[in-house]
Amino acid sequence: MALIGIYGAGGCGRGVMPLARQAYGHNHKLLFVDDQLSGESINGHQTLSFDEFAALEDDDKAISLAIANGKIREKLDKKSGDAGIAFTDIHAAQMVHMDAADVGVGSIFSPFTTLTSNIRIGRHFHCNLYSYVEHDCIIGDFVTFAPAVRCNGNVRIGDRAYIGSNAVIKQGVIVGEDAVIGMGAVVTKDVGRGQTVVGNPARPLDPK
Ligand code: UDP
Repeated sequence: MALIGIYGAGGCGRGVMPLARQAYGHNHKLLFVDDQLSGESINGHQTLSFDEFAALEDDDKAISLAIANGKIREKLDKKSGDAGIAFTDIHAAQMVHMDAADVGVGSIFSPFTTLTSNIRIGRHFHCNLYSYVEHDCIIGDFVTFAPAVRCNGNVRIGDRAYIGSNAVIKQGVIVGEDAVIGMGAVVTKDVGRGQTVVGNPARPLDPK
């Protein structure tokens, strides 16, 4: 039977597993993959370490990187790729995908998320509950949207950026690589690489 591993049995992975069950449960065996929790049964699913999962003899095996930290996803993307393991997308049935969007491998879209049109997104994007990506956005690799992110049109977001819950990003803004947008921030200006911004209007947390 085809196998899908949900990598990470923390808060993120336990939220992703029911979406995997909804999308693939009828014809796949679903497991957690977690290097700290192997051997446990979590929410009814067997949990293996990565090495145990990689060693399973099954031609039809894929993994989803269900860990919110984009830097960790980048590391696990390489580790899984080096082990020859394919990636699967996990898209909630209640996701709304309106028109052309080019989305990289391993994306996770929670329920009530929306993509409008003419969007480009990199590898292993996480789009949490009630978040949207509007027209003409360009989003890098390993980017994470916490719940209810409002990403308006023509926004650009660099690799590994983390956008906190309920943040609003104004049309046309550029968010640099590894930037962190705090919960509820209203982002009206560009955010530099590695910068953390908070508040309304969003300002650097630790100006240098
Ligand atoms: N984890 C892992 N291998 C790694 C990094 C993380 O198995 O190289 C697991 C870690 O053991 C933990 C989970 O990923 O159980 C992450 O859970 P956490 O609650 O820290 O983060 P979240 O689920 O919110 O992303």
